[in-house]
This record gives sequence, structure tokens and C-alpha cells, in this order.
Amino acid sequence: MRYLAKCPACGREYDDPLRFRCDCGSPLELKLELDDFTEDRLLRVRSMWRYLRFFPYVGDVVSLGEGWTPLVRLDGHVHLKMDFINPTGSFKDRGSSAVVSTIGRLVRETGGFLAEDSSGNAGASLAAYSAKAGLRARIYVPSSASGHKMDQIRAYGAELVRVDGSREEVAREAMRPEEGKIYVGHPWHPVFRDGMRTLAYEIFEQMGYRAPDRVYVPVSSGTGLMGLLRGFEHLGVDTRVVACQTEAVHPLLARFTGRPYTPPPSLDTLAEALIMTDPPLLDLMVEALGRSGGSVDAVGEDEIARAFLELARKGIYVEPTSAVSLACYRKQLDSGEVDESEEVVLLLTGSGLKTSPRIIERLLGGR
Ligand SMILES: [Zn+2]
Repeated sequence: MRYLAKCPACGREYDDPLRFRCDCGSPLELKLELDDFTEDRLLRVRSMWRYLRFFPYVGDVVSLGEGWTPLVRLDGHVHLKMDFINPTGSFKDRGSSAVVSTIGRLVRETGGFLAEDSSGNAGASLAAYSAKAGLRARIYVPSSASGHKMDQIRAYGAELVRVDGSREEVAREAMRPEEGKIYVGHPWHPVFRDGMRTLAYEIFEQMGYRAPDRVYVPVSSGTGLMGLLRGFEHLGVDTRVVACQTEAVHPLLARFTGRPYTPPPSLDTLAEALIMTDPPLLDLMVEALGRSGGSVDAVGEDEIARAFLELARKGIYVEPTSAVSLACYRKQLDSGEVDESEEVVLLLTGSGLKTSPRIIERLLGGR
């Protein structure tokens, strides 16, 4: 196992996969030397671990069959990456599988437990993979969090800790050092977002070894975005990645365009999984997105609701958070930013079955 993480801010290097942050406070990035992406290097398994060769630091794979989700044509040149069809109903399973596969044995040997902060999907996902690996997990969530994801976390046998305050305060509580606690929060841990690289490989393979012109991805902590960018970089293709946020929560759009951003006092948005107002990866996202020629956009609640219903009326039931990618695409189509002839992939991140009942009521109440 060759594991090395480097601090993009100060250059310090770490070979300990339990470390999620540099001494200087910056997030870490994996230092990877990867073979070229060629067909003969892929394994014949129908999960993200067909790309195991490109994860040289992974030890014992802990898998629930994550990844290799369908790519379905919506219409014309628009394809949907159905990543809500993952074992826990969320694309986060790629990250959880990568993390638990990398450090599971180490955690078992030390007798510790995994800790994660989450608005829901990532917590449920890590709880599932901890259960599969026979590890204890503790998931910190905002006290306002409710619904199926909380039931899911408890059902997997993880300990659920509710924290008053903002999403950032939940993160601080989860990271607070404690005997035996090993923090693997998705907003920080470099291996979690490295698992997301597999998204780029799958899209490339499923389009027939071709890259789409654009990929639209909902962005909160930035794990999916960073994974896609790194994956496309490894493939050597020039797909434009469009980071999709909401009018309520758009710290990346603000930083990317140099505009000020003040989060609203209360985060009442249909996109209940896009609520990080100050994600730790902000600087890394701006740098990677700029270097790759990507962009950022944001949509309002009405646009999200319309996109959610458009997908549902075509048989695709996703979280409103996932519909943000379609909403952004429709907005850019209307403004002429993107052309109908472009091959486009929209990332659908979470299952509609996990949406809070109060959100569904808002969307369907009058219908
Ligand atoms: Zn540093």
C-alpha cells in the first residue's frame, strides 16, 4: 500500500491515511502516480472497483456493489448519470467505500470508531459501509435533520448525534478530538473524494470511450466536483464541468466570480443536501475548476421545483437536490450559455425516496 497525501497550501506530506487535515489547517490532497487509463487495466466487475488498478493505496476492498450505475438518455444529447441507484441511495457510497476500504483494517486494529458529519446522505452511506466492515460509526447531524436518512443511519447501527447550530458547527463537533475517534468526514478526508474519481471513468466508458462536452454536478462540500475534475484530468479529456448551486447557498459561485456572499439567516431550500455555506474545499475547488475551464451557476427554488417535476414526470424520482443539475442545464440552455447540440451529462446524486416528507409536501402539495 503506497499512501501519500500532500498539503496544497504548505507542501507538507503525510503517509498516515487517518490524517484528514494538515498542521497548517488546509485540507490534504492525495499524491497519486497513476497508470494511463486503458481498457486492459480494468477489472471485470460491475462496481466502481473495476478501476481498482487506479487506487494503488487501497487495501481490502469493502464493497456493497457501489458504482457502475446506469447512464440513461433523457432526450436529445442529454444523459443522466443515475448515481442515486447506489446501495444507500446516494452517490456518496463511492467515497464511503473508498475510505472504509483504505482504513478499515487500521481502525479495527486500533479499536476506534469512525466519525462523520453530514446533512444526511453521507452519514447514511458511511454508516452502511461501517456496518459491512464490522466497524462502529458515529454520525453528527444538524438538529433540524429529519426523515428517512436519520432512520437509515440508526437502522445500520450507527450512533446518531444531533447538534444545534449551523452545518459548520456540526462539523466542528464531529472533528473535536476524542479517545478512539477517527474523523473521516467527507468534506475533509482526501480518500472520500478520491473515490468520486470513478464517476468520470464510468461516464467515459459508458459513452463509448468518449467524453461529454459538459457535466453538470450539484455542489455543496465539493466531493463530487473534485472527483470528477481529477478523473477527467487523469483521462486527459477536456470536458467542461459546471458546478451547480442554489440562490440560497452559493459560496463557490461567489468565490469563483469574486462576488461577496452572505448566507441567508435561515436555509430554507428544496435542495436540502446543498447547505454548506463555507466548505473546507472552497479554495481547492476554485483552483481546480479554473484550471480545467469549468464554471459555476446557481438556480432558484422555482427552477429546482420545475426540474424535479420534469424528471419525476419522466419516471425519474430523485431528491430535489439532484434536480439542481437539470435546473442549471435548463437555465444555461435558455440563456444560450450551452447549445442543444452539446453532449451533456447531468449527475443525479440522491434518491427521491430519501427526501424529507415536508419537502415532498411543498413540491406536490398543490398538485
Ligand atoms: Zn499545510
